[in-house]
Amino acid sequence: MNAPVFPELKIPNTIAAGPGPGNTSQRVLDAFYHQGVADHMNPNVLRGMIEAKKMLREIWGTNNVHTFGVAGTGWSALDMMFSVVHPGEKIVLFVNGTFSGIDELSVRMKGATEEELRANSTDPKAASVITVKVPHGQSVTGEIVAEALAEHKPKWAAMAHWETGSGRINDIKGFSDACVEHGVMGLVDAVSSLGIEEFRADDFPGIHGWASCPQKGVMALPLTYAPVTFSDQYIEELKKVGARSFVHHPIMEARHWAIVDGQDVEKGSYHRTHSPYAVASFHEALRMVLEDGMLQRAEHYRKAEKALRAALVKMGCNVTSNMTSLLVLDLPEKLRGQEKDFVNTCREEQFCIWPTLSEPVQIRVGILNLLKESELTEIVTRFGDMLNRYDHKTDVDAAVAELKSNLK
Ligand SMILES: *Cc1c(COP(=O)(O)O)cnc(C)c1O
Repeated sequence: MNAPVFPELKIPNTIAAGPGPGNTSQRVLDAFYHQGVADHMNPNVLRGMIEAKKMLREIWGTNNVHTFGVAGTGWSALDMMFSVVHPGEKIVLFVNGTFSGIDELSVRMKGATEEELRANSTDPKAASVITVKVPHGQSVTGEIVAEALAEHKPKWAAMAHWETGSGRINDIKGFSDACVEHGVMGLVDAVSSLGIEEFRADDFPGIHGWASCPQKGVMALPLTYAPVTFSDQYIEELKKVGARSFVHHPIMEARHWAIVDGQDVEKGSYHRTHSPYAVASFHEALRMVLEDGMLQRAEHYRKAEKALRAALVKMGCNVTSNMTSLLVLDLPEKLRGQEKDFVNTCREEQFCIWPTLSEPVQIRVGILNLLKESELTEIVTRFGDMLNRYDHKTDVDAAVAELKSNLK
């Protein structure tokens, strides 16, 4: 039998009010398809990659030469960053939610010995990987990091900057300081903070590898490039120990971004086939971040989060997060236990919020690229209307008024 020809795929427009992916801007989508047909070595494509690399150095706040984009998603960038960790090397991981938990799994897969990997190949135990668990809803503090590094004296340490599972900001200054004090090389998952908070990678000398993604703060969802940056010290170490990957090899992938032997060169050389459309939309997304300005962007997020938080609290919710792009909350007492059902009903109506992916079950409402008063008002109205439908008497107008007074 022949395979059926399905009808053309149509995807509806939704309010992407979750932890990510964010509401991709029309400008980025337009840049994706308003291009000529060209191959990956076209001079304009190569120039676009060089410009993107330079914009990324500005966005990361770094002079690191090895700053570029990894084709793929946040996990692609993280896989590249962790490619330097070898079996048996001691590394301490700080885990306070779903994503730092997956970082930890990823590192166990790389750090496990052959025997450890064979014993349980999809979830290996690795004696060299030490996990410090911090409860859901709490942040990793500098003290927690310093204590663990003093005790274990590892080669590497890794942490999420913003843990998107629980909506918590972890202390990267404390992390970096502790790494410097104990001679440890720090690696950070900055997937959900880059492009939202105004941090500068070069202000954190203990951190040698940073990895982000295309779909959260940078908003280049036509799945394009995941930003990374590596210090010279990281690259020196990598040269010594190597990486068991061609595609996610930081030195090799950098060649296509015109970085060779630790220096910028005039022209990139083939590493793998890059899409001109992906390069163009990524380039546009980076332009948009820089046009806003990092500080101004961060302030917009802070203000919008504070206002939405006030409105949600007014409607009886308990907010437990402190990220500025995402609110993680408990529904009013009477609706506890109905979180998943509540989220599903919202999603059926294209109001796409999320539950937490690990216990305890909470609700996540994100505001990536949804910072306008009209967009925030729609989120509050939709949320409030749904509370009323779930028989929790809610004064939606009062919540909207609370939102607006906080946006003043
Ligand atoms: C979203 C996220 C990831 C995974 O990113 P993908 O783009 O889905 O691969 C990893 N870490 C953190 C902290 C995240 O928020």
